[in-house]
Amino acid sequence: MPARLNLVVLGKQGAGKGTQCKRLAASYGIPHISTGDILRGAVKAGSPLGREVASVLDSGALVSDDLVIELVRERFEEPDAQSGGLLDGFPRTLGQAEALERILGDDGIKLCINLDVPIELVTQRLSSRRICQECGAIYRDTDVEAISGTCTNCGGDVVQRADDQPEAIRKRLETYERDTEPLLAFYESRGLLVTVDGDQSPDEVTSAIEAIVHERGLA
Ligand code: ADP
Repeated sequence: MPARLNLVVLGKQGAGKGTQCKRLAASYGIPHISTGDILRGAVKAGSPLGREVASVLDSGALVSDDLVIELVRERFEEPDAQSGGLLDGFPRTLGQAEALERILGDDGIKLCINLDVPIELVTQRLSSRRICQECGAIYRDTDVEAISGTCTNCGGDVVQRADDQPEAIRKRLETYERDTEPLLAFYESRGLLVTVDGDQSPDEVTSAIEAIVHERGLA
């Protein structure tokens, strides 16, 4: 079996992780594993998991390590993840990063991409972000009027995420700095960290990441 391509994308909320992961997952043929999407999907479906985490998500706090670690463990057991995965929003604590090494074993993380964007810019991106409740497509607040609040992809309602309100944004960015930034040193010490300037057009960011993955002979 060829080596699995497991990639971690780190970066502040609003850095563009979701956008890049969707593109990279398609070009490398590996699943985009976003713990935020999985959790929001559970809330929307009204499952027991969703009912448990709904208020935590709205507040912008993190759900427990045990819960997300279990979700990711199960996700990597699915057939499509046997060739690897592109992790978005996980790990975001040291405990999660250590658990991920145990989940993946020897054929572990090949690269950690740090999408670097200044805090002022992500704050502005998050407060103007609107999202389709059905398919997750992302819009700017200035576009929403033009489309009358209806997603041009799927016809779903385009809304503001509860955690994109100012107080929740502040809390999420603080949590990132406190709990997730230490992961940069964790992956650096393993020789796996690369930093990409996220303040460029989406196409430029994708090209920069693909060039690094290629240089390292990973795909
Ligand atoms: P963002 O990174 O913009 O906050 P995500 O979609 O990655 O958005 O996550 C949304 C929410 O889901 C987080 O604020 C948190 O409550 C929860 N969540 C997602 N991933 C994790 C994780 N790895 N550990 C704990 N909570 C998580």
